[in-house]
Amino acid sequence: MKVFKFGGASVKDAAGVRNVARVLKRFAGEEILIVVSAMGKTTNALERVVWDWRAGKDVREQVDVLRQQHLAVLQEVVPEFEEAEAWLLEYFNELEELLGGTPTGNADQDYDQVVSYGELWSTQIVSAFLSIELETCSWMDARDLVRTDALHRSARVDWEASAALVKEQFSSGDGQEAVHYPVVTQGFIGATEEGFTTTLGREGSDFSAAIFAYLLDAESVTIWKDVPGMFNADPNRFPDTKLLSHISYREAIELSYFGASVIHPRTLQPLQQKHIPLYVRSFMDLDAPGSTIDDRSDSDSLIPSYIIKPKQLLISITPRDLSFVVEENLHHIFGLFARANVRIDLMQNSALAFSVVVDDTPGSRVLIEELSRDYEVRYNEDCELVTVRHYDEPTLEQLTQGREVLIEQRSRVTSRTVLKRS
Ligand code: ASP
Ligand code: MG
Repeated sequence: MKVFKFGGASVKDAAGVRNVARVLKRFAGEEILIVVSAMGKTTNALERVVWDWRAGKDVREQVDVLRQQHLAVLQEVVPEFEEAEAWLLEYFNELEELLGGTPTGNADQDYDQVVSYGELWSTQIVSAFLSIELETCSWMDARDLVRTDALHRSARVDWEASAALVKEQFSSGDGQEAVHYPVVTQGFIGATEEGFTTTLGREGSDFSAAIFAYLLDAESVTIWKDVPGMFNADPNRFPDTKLLSHISYREAIELSYFGASVIHPRTLQPLQQKHIPLYVRSFMDLDAPGSTIDDRSDSDSLIPSYIIKPKQLLISITPRDLSFVVEENLHHIFGLFARANVRIDLMQNSALAFSVVVDDTPGSRVLIEELSRDYEVRYNEDCELVTVRHYDEPTLEQLTQGREVLIEQRSRVTSRTVLKRS
């Protein structure tokens, strides 16, 4: 079996939904599981719905806009659509019923119950269309396949329970209904044992694809994107980026850890464990070769990759009594970061100061205030963190030319520089 993942941008409108069939026709006769995200910006819209609802606002109009958008796409791709329409509307009714009630004491749980509809709707439309276009297709509810804990908004997968569920749903015979390929299911969502919907974290559909591939021992995963693969830098920022046609899991994990946004960071571990290759390909240009990520590392160092994180805060933390920064302080400081859920992108210490670089978010600003109670805290705003893997001097020079360098760190393969914004 092959697993295909289509993200929100690839199914943002009727043309996108039709394009899914065009891709699948290239793989006629193969067993394919298609993992789909919510259409376009639906997840963002549903986030507004859930927060407004919890704030006591009337959200009926917002839901109505979403309903009209989804119905319009369905009507465009499935002209005789009564049956599919009824099915889609059922899920809108379900949501409206939920929103007609009162919020619970658990905001994150409410979030998951509401936001998950984006994926349910998009997959209903895709599967209604594919059933006609390919004459065969089945829809599966990912909540019957992916069992998670109750850590809402970043639920953790129960691999064993999920394996049993997947086995049950995908086995035919024994009075079970046969599985018709392609199978369409949702990314991003799962469910607890009690039947509460959970989500795996924003942009989690790539991870879902990897979960399914792992559980089904798939031969490969393909992420179909609006870019023709993984590049050595953000093509929107740099004129002559190069395609990384082949890199190892390790290298891809490092790149996504440092902030490359092509693949969700959690995606690679399950694939690596079962040696399942990941292909990143263009859903527009089906002949473009794309990128392959697998065990082979021989091309990792051929091209320097650079990742630029803008809007960083460089925070420097000093004990008030000018005592040395030792393990006890660090223990305390790390505890505050962990509790505030602020991720440290880079750190450096000297005798009297511990410096970190973090994303400039409201959470980081609150943390600075908290730190200031016990430490002297200074910070630099508007910094850029430039990471270069497999760096060479000309590349580094080009990236930092004429800029004020605040911190520089180098290992054998990775260079990291904190720059004042020019
Ligand atoms: N729809 C979800 C999001 O926008 C999951 C995903 O797209 O991967 O975060
Ligand atoms: Mg999305």
